[in-house]
Amino acid sequence: MLSIKNKILIVGGGTSGWMTASLLAKKWPDSQIELIESKNIGTVGVGEGSTPYIKQFFNALEIKEADWMPYCSATYKNGIQFVNWSKTPGYEQYFHAFLSDLDEKYASEFEQATIERRNGQAVKAHPDGYFFLQSLTKDLRQPVTDAKVDHENVYAYHFDSGKLADYLKQYCLNLGVKHQYVDVETVELNANGEIAAVISQEQKRFTADLYIDCTGFKALLIQQHLNEPFIPFNNNLLNDRAVTVATKATAHYQPQTISTALSNGWAWKIPLTTRTGNGYVYSSKYISDEEATQELIEFVGEDNLISEPKIIPMKVGRVKRSWVKNCVAIGLSQGFIEPLEATGLHFIQSTIETFILLYEMGEGTDDYQEVYNREIEHLFENVRDYIVSHYLTNTRSDSEYWRACREQIKISDSLKALMNAWCSGKDFRDTLVKAEIANIYPSESWHMLLAGMGFLPPIAGAHEPSMQEQKILAKIASEYQHYVDLYPKTHG
Ligand SMILES: Cc1cc2nc3c(=O)[nH]c(=O)nc-3n(C[C@H](O)[C@H](O)[C@H](O)COP(=O)(O)OP(=O)(O)OC[C@H]3O[C@@H](n4cnc5c(N)ncnc54)[C@H](O)[C@@H]3O)c2cc1C
Repeated sequence: MLSIKNKILIVGGGTSGWMTASLLAKKWPDSQIELIESKNIGTVGVGEGSTPYIKQFFNALEIKEADWMPYCSATYKNGIQFVNWSKTPGYEQYFHAFLSDLDEKYASEFEQATIERRNGQAVKAHPDGYFFLQSLTKDLRQPVTDAKVDHENVYAYHFDSGKLADYLKQYCLNLGVKHQYVDVETVELNANGEIAAVISQEQKRFTADLYIDCTGFKALLIQQHLNEPFIPFNNNLLNDRAVTVATKATAHYQPQTISTALSNGWAWKIPLTTRTGNGYVYSSKYISDEEATQELIEFVGEDNLISEPKIIPMKVGRVKRSWVKNCVAIGLSQGFIEPLEATGLHFIQSTIETFILLYEMGEGTDDYQEVYNREIEHLFENVRDYIVSHYLTNTRSDSEYWRACREQIKISDSLKALMNAWCSGKDFRDTLVKAEIANIYPSESWHMLLAGMGFLPPIAGAHEPSMQEQKILAKIASEYQHYVDLYPKTHG
């Protein structure tokens, strides 16, 4: 194992700061790592959903579910239920399932149905019923079992992000990471424009070979002092604010995030063992904070509230380069795409892993800086396009907002190519591979999204499954039931 001996200063102790410190401390035991954070400036305090990729993070740290999950009030996530995004009859909701080995047999049947429908046949081609983790979810079952099974499931988690940061902090301190509470006042640059020191309000100087900016949306080092430009995504994605409230936990939680389209955005519902997290993500151009708060409270039920509403402004976009001179931005400081697919922590993890790989290849130099910045740009743009697709394919006409999401947003050339391939009935899997977008979201995810939204040619009678589909779905249901029974029920 290559070991980097550099001195590294991480500024910011939110989830990104502690995730970064954990992985660096684990991978580079010879480097001196220090994390400084303000006691006065809070963390963003959200980030309860994840993608399955986060499992690799805990594996890399050698932390077991039995250790971190109870501490972080965590629950299992089998996928996302999308509700009311489409008004097309028969497509008012769909489940975006994470995949299981068991899906190998029947995912192709679903894909085949979408091909037939896209080529004019009267089949429904809705994803529900084809994927094993949806069967588990319907029956309130978790995706892991002690029973002996011959397949593996891909799954993710929901958790209290504040507690996760606390847990990782303890992990880091045990590995020798130094920690101090200080408020950073300014940053000193040298003649080459690199960071020479970070200066606290008490005029204490912190120096390092490498500085990591984890200061959240304010991007204190990378934007405020290194002046790296910010590329907003507000032409592609309209939402710029969120309001959150917590409600009571339920005894048997639903192992899914529920994403429900509301009048001017969408609301998440995320089960934790101690509470249910709710938030409404909306566009301030179309609805005020007061109206959005009221709509969310009505949606979750006033009697269920256990916290006050909190408004969170969102800066959606990315810095042009997230590694500039001797500074790397990780977390909200490098960019943010609204949380529809819970990708915030995914970006953080992917960014650190890519950085570790390329910094090691360059033996602790910036030889691979350009490669790194291209990779991160690619990641952000691909995820953005996937999120944009949800808005683009909505069929709501009940507000100006939903019409604007369909008609006024900017679409990248690669997304246009994908949509054209889908609509023309061409081989969509092949187009995805060429667009390299399938590296992040597999072909199955794209098929679930586009068919689940009912983004299909209108054909008489196709809002109900055809006889052939009904036969296959009945066969799958009886085959999966045997496996479903092997998994325990969820509990609060
Ligand atoms: C509405 C919303 C919903 C989200 N939902 C999800 C989700 O479901 N899943 C997901 O993966 N992600 C989600 N995210 C993203 C996720 O919350 C963030 O990626 C994650 O919390 C990381 O934040 P951070 O550590 O970069 O920044 P922050 O949490 O803002 O932390 C910033 C840190 O910098 C410190 N700091 C700032 N200024 C100074 C200073 N001058 N001196 C010293 N320290 C300073 C602060 O004290 C703090 O410790 C969501 C984000 C939003 C806005």
